[in-house]
Amino acid sequence: MAETISEQDFERSALSFLEANAKPRVESRQSWGEGSDQVSVLPERTLEEEQAELKEARGWAQKRFDAGFSWITGPVEYGGRGLSRDFQRNYDAIEGRFDTPAMSAYGIGLGMVAPTILAHGSDEVKALYLKRMWRGDIVGCQLFSEPGAGSDLASLQTKAVRDGDEWIVTGQKVWTSGAHLSEIGEIMCRTNPDAPKHKGLTGFVVNMHAAGVEVRPLRQMTGGASFNEVFFNEVRIPDSHRLGDVNEGWTVALTTLMNERAAIGGGMASGGGGNMGTQRLIELVRHQGKADDPLIRQQLADIIINGRVATFTNLRAMAKIATGQLPGPEMSIGKLTLTANMRRVSDLVASVLGPRLVADSGEWGTYAWSKFVLGLPGMRLAGGTDEILRNIIGERVLGLPKEPAVQK
Ligand SMILES: Cc1cc2nc3c(=O)[nH]c(=O)nc-3n(C[C@H](O)[C@H](O)[C@H](O)COP(=O)(O)OP(=O)(O)OC[C@H]3O[C@@H](n4cnc5c(N)ncnc54)[C@H](O)[C@@H]3O)c2cc1C
Repeated sequence: MAETISEQDFERSALSFLEANAKPRVESRQSWGEGSDQVSVLPERTLEEEQAELKEARGWAQKRFDAGFSWITGPVEYGGRGLSRDFQRNYDAIEGRFDTPAMSAYGIGLGMVAPTILAHGSDEVKALYLKRMWRGDIVGCQLFSEPGAGSDLASLQTKAVRDGDEWIVTGQKVWTSGAHLSEIGEIMCRTNPDAPKHKGLTGFVVNMHAAGVEVRPLRQMTGGASFNEVFFNEVRIPDSHRLGDVNEGWTVALTTLMNERAAIGGGMASGGGGNMGTQRLIELVRHQGKADDPLIRQQLADIIINGRVATFTNLRAMAKIATGQLPGPEMSIGKLTLTANMRRVSDLVASVLGPRLVADSGEWGTYAWSKFVLGLPGMRLAGGTDEILRNIIGERVLGLPKEPAVQK
């Protein structure tokens, strides 16, 4: 049964937990030429750095879970506290005043995989994984995309064939963020090749350390390797690890994708995306002696205004989610506004820096922008490409006729 606790008592205990375990956040305004000049979009860390960051995040996740401040809204029978979203929001606001480790390694697992397990997993799978995921003991990844199935996810070909109480999975996934750090993955497989493509899919939870799973890193053009190709060679998955009914995987995938949009929107609503790099951009313009150039000033103002619009659009969508409604087209508009603005940033940086964007002159805060410019195409693909989002807006907001479907 969910506990009864007043908001005041909850906030008091959250504050004393944080005061005892974390340092208050000190807002430091970085000066030009000081510290790191990284403005990358995708993580640019070595494997060792990623593992060290995960270790630190894991320590914090475990401490926070054990104190009762991780899965505040989760059902009590699976390790949550059964409290309302208001308690979670209050905790997040209080934690935001403290300096705590980056939790990006858990983003996909907790933002997308765990809610799907909760909605579609067997009691055994829920009991086996949810608490450990929320406690940070295990990391989860999303195994959807394949070389021939991205925007058109329902075309995926990785097959799962039933063998008694198990399924045998063979195929290849690609662009799997964090697979190299994950213990489990949510995989979408074709279980009926004869049915129409949306009707022959089934979702599973797969052990990433099972025999036959091979994870190969993919190096992105900025140098980092945050995602992977994952090969499945006759990997056995118990039937108890199935998500939802056989051949009903499309509903399961939609649950995950809805949560993906909400997770991306949440990041943007908190300013993580909408205002990306703005302060650094202003400093760049000043230090390159362009602050009085009217065209540059106009571009800069445009970026700041559009950044605010993206943030507010995402806040509107998040407010809908907070009241239990499904986010509508706001998510698509918000993400599109963000990537369009990142493109404006890239254009401005290119006009200000010229050749110093592509050749490293050694000057602080200049060539570093190349990682931003090269990372932008990835942002325009992940979580729904610009074109797919435009289709959604065209069809669902503007009421334009549907694109003719290509049935494979
Ligand atoms: C940073 C990053 C992280 C990712 N992480 C994961 C992950 O963890 N797990 C996972 O499963 N996948 C992940 N992905 C993959 C992502 O989901 C796919 O890249 C995305 O769905 C697009 O698929 P695709 O790359 O195959 O491109 P395609 O679908 O082949 O599209 C190619 C081009 O054609 C356009 N196009 C396609 N269909 C249409 C249409 N109907 N109308 C108009 N234009 C169209 C697209 O907009 C795009 O420009 C990640 C991708 C990125 C960039």
